[in-house]
Amino acid sequence: LLTVSNLSKAFDESGPVVDSLDFEVKEDEIFALLGPSGCGKTTCLRLIAGFERADKGEVKVEGRLLESPSQHVAPQNRGIGFVFQDYALFPHLSVIDNVAFGLTDIPKHKRNVYAEEVLCRTGMGDYKDRNPSELSGGQQQRVALARAIAPKPKLVLLDEPFSNLDAMLRDSMRKEVRSILKKAGMSALLVTHDQEEALSFADRIAVMNDGKIEQVGTPEEVYYNPKTKFVAQFLGRTN
Ligand code: ATP
Repeated sequence: LLTVSNLSKAFDESGPVVDSLDFEVKEDEIFALLGPSGCGKTTCLRLIAGFERADKGEVKVEGRLLESPSQHVAPQNRGIGFVFQDYALFPHLSVIDNVAFGLTDIPKHKRNVYAEEVLCRTGMGDYKDRNPSELSGGQQQRVALARAIAPKPKLVLLDEPFSNLDAMLRDSMRKEVRSILKKAGMSALLVTHDQEEALSFADRIAVMNDGKIEQVGTPEEVYYNPKTKFVAQFLGRTN
């Protein structure tokens, strides 16, 4: 579904922060980019979303070229959903209007009915008339997720989406989000520095270090058979 080939990006002379990345996210797959702070995960996600320009390489979704040094499709035309770390809901719009906002393909009179339906799927139907400021972090996250999946994108990008939640809520939200994505047949690319999150949430994981991918595999493969010293250390597999 998503193909990233030889993708590179440098901001200054200090060298590329995303360095010749190659990976693929398949249909219906949840894929995690896992690595320490500063290794280039968010920059990679921003390149896929269209918020940064690539120096080298390509990003394709369903064979359509979205990003290369000579091609740049605007973020809103990529057909990709995003959930940002800070949820980024529109503060002046109600919960339901936040979700309905991007549904320009649906006739106006049907938009709210459908938006409410999606909110119910993320467990937020009862909160549809509230303002984002009246919601907890976990509730805002569910609204952000509803907004991201409502236009039925084939691919959703999730940037540390559970980082602001307490341990219990984080665990239940991971399960809930996973089930929503799977039921809707959507693929997701998750960025996280939390190995436990990647191992429990993703179907496959790419471990990143210093702008490069060290290993790609299922959670079992990378955990039980780390291919490099860095992967072993990062996953706490060495003493
Ligand atoms: P974190 O988990 O802390 O968010 P990350 O792995 O997502 O880290 P990035 O945010 O992609 O890492 O940052 C990678 C490197 O690129 C960092 O050294 C950062 O300072 C640098 N960087 C990111 N964005 C910019 C920018 N707009 N201009 C200059 N440098 C940047």
